[in-house]
Amino acid sequence: MTDKYDVVVIGAGPAGYTAAIRCAQLGLNTACIDKSLGESGDPTLGGTCLNWGCIPSKALLDVSHKFAEARDSFKGFGIKTGKVSVDIKTVMQRKTEVVAKLTGGISALFKANGVIALAGTGRLLTGPRVEYAPHDGAAQVLESTHVILAPGSVSTQIEPTPLDGEFIVDSTGALEFDSVPATLGVIGAGVIGLELGSVWGRFGSDVVVLEALDDFLPMCDRRIARDAKKLLEAQGLDIRMGARVVGSKVENGSVEVRYQDNEGEHSVHVDKLIVGVGRIPYTEGLLAPDCGVNLDERGFLYVNDLCATDAPHVYAVGDAVRGPMLAHKGMDEGVMVAERLAGQKTMVNYDCVPSVIYTHPEVAWVGRTEAELKSDGEKFNVGTFPFAASGRALAAHDSDGMVKVIADAETDRILGVHILGPQASELIAQAVIAMEFNGSAEDLGLTMFAHPSLSEAVHEAALGVAGHAVHMVNRKKRN
Ligand code: FAD
Ligand code: NAD
Repeated sequence: MTDKYDVVVIGAGPAGYTAAIRCAQLGLNTACIDKSLGESGDPTLGGTCLNWGCIPSKALLDVSHKFAEARDSFKGFGIKTGKVSVDIKTVMQRKTEVVAKLTGGISALFKANGVIALAGTGRLLTGPRVEYAPHDGAAQVLESTHVILAPGSVSTQIEPTPLDGEFIVDSTGALEFDSVPATLGVIGAGVIGLELGSVWGRFGSDVVVLEALDDFLPMCDRRIARDAKKLLEAQGLDIRMGARVVGSKVENGSVEVRYQDNEGEHSVHVDKLIVGVGRIPYTEGLLAPDCGVNLDERGFLYVNDLCATDAPHVYAVGDAVRGPMLAHKGMDEGVMVAERLAGQKTMVNYDCVPSVIYTHPEVAWVGRTEAELKSDGEKFNVGTFPFAASGRALAAHDSDGMVKVIADAETDRILGVHILGPQASELIAQAVIAMEFNGSAEDLGLTMFAHPSLSEAVHEAALGVAGHAVHMVNRKKRN
């Protein structure tokens, strides 16, 4: 280890590890400091995403979906099984193996690219210099030409439901239950609440979701949010809107949760309670008082469009800076900063960040909603296509949902695409590519799609913008 680097990155989540790898690929002498310890107590790379976020949650979502299909749908397909049951210990072991494989993969990528991994805590000093405190051993000061801060985020906590790690947990605790709770409360009908509520609901919990807002998924297309809510309720999630949690009590091995809605105060009793009410930037101990980096009014590291902080040569990326808290957004910011340090002109297109909720069916979107466009006074055309008219979706017995394409009324440029349906997380990439290339609905309509495929629903919705959809009756006049 040297004590002088071209770049020191603090945080090895998706934003930090991507920045570090790209810096090293570009010939910069790079170290990456991370303080996370994995399940075994050893240092781990990959941050929230690989250890306690995207990957373990998707491992549980995929297994629980297979389980629910085997239990509820196989009979209808003509597949006979005995009684289907789940062994949570094996499910969790497999999740741990997936996480270990991927976090080990980051270690291997660091080695292969020459990134120096430093296990411990980093703190930005003036200069820029970084104080590095290893897990055991004395702290030392690293000189660096540039520093990239990527400290990520942690769960928001609320006063009425203090976490106790056993009965009241955050998303991390909810990824580690050792048995299926008979009854489960979830606070927050956001991404985490719906994904983890779905996991445990499919495994057999009676799930009640308490959401303070009156609108379900306010960031989504209104029709898609309404349809998604109905489908999730049909799967057994008891979603109570306008329900503000005001207190909780753990007694005799269960949790009493008190909440208020328009009709007054109520309470529910559950075996476990997940608090999924958002995440906040994690900057504790990160910044020396005189380091020159400022926070914005919500506690995020303040950066410009190019992720530069107020301190010279110091950049910040990922969940700890403005914008959606998504792994791929952080990764792209990491690449942008690395390439700009190497003299390139890379930028992040914040108008083309896809979002996905991995329920079944999945919800995915990119760009703007009809409601946003209307409130901005913009004129647009809309094409929709239901999966119920897709041959591939019907063949797969997976035909709930729809695709909606929104295009500018004058230029036909695609402004937003909203999908509720099977593999929406994959389908949305087509819309992102079209939008990144400034494509029009006509461009997508003139593109050939394989038949039969779920992608044809994107094609047909794009054709529908001008009233040309072939496999459904068009409401608009053909031209
Ligand atoms: P993080 O992944 O949080 O990593 C930051 C790292 O920095 C951590 O390892 C932390 O220990 C370390 N660190 C912080 N401060 C210091 C310091 N001073 N010194 C040393 N190390 C430090 N996003 C998606 O896009 N798709 C999903 O499907 C998805 N699913 C999710 C599911 C769950 C349950 C959760 C909680 C999140 C999910 N997310 C998902 C969000 C995603 O995990 C985050 O957007 C992403 O991890 C942010 O990356 P990051 O690199 O900014 O920070
Ligand atoms: P969120 O902001 O998506 O949802 C939180 C919900 O909790 C909101 O609907 C909010 O109104 C509600 N809420 C807040 N306080 C409440 C209270 N006191 N009582 C009842 N409801 C309350 O946040 P999240 O679901 O915790 O997710 C955090 C972040 O992690 C998100 O920014 C998300 O982008 C990221 N994430 C992404 C994915 C994915 O990409 N699939 C998955 C999980 C998490």
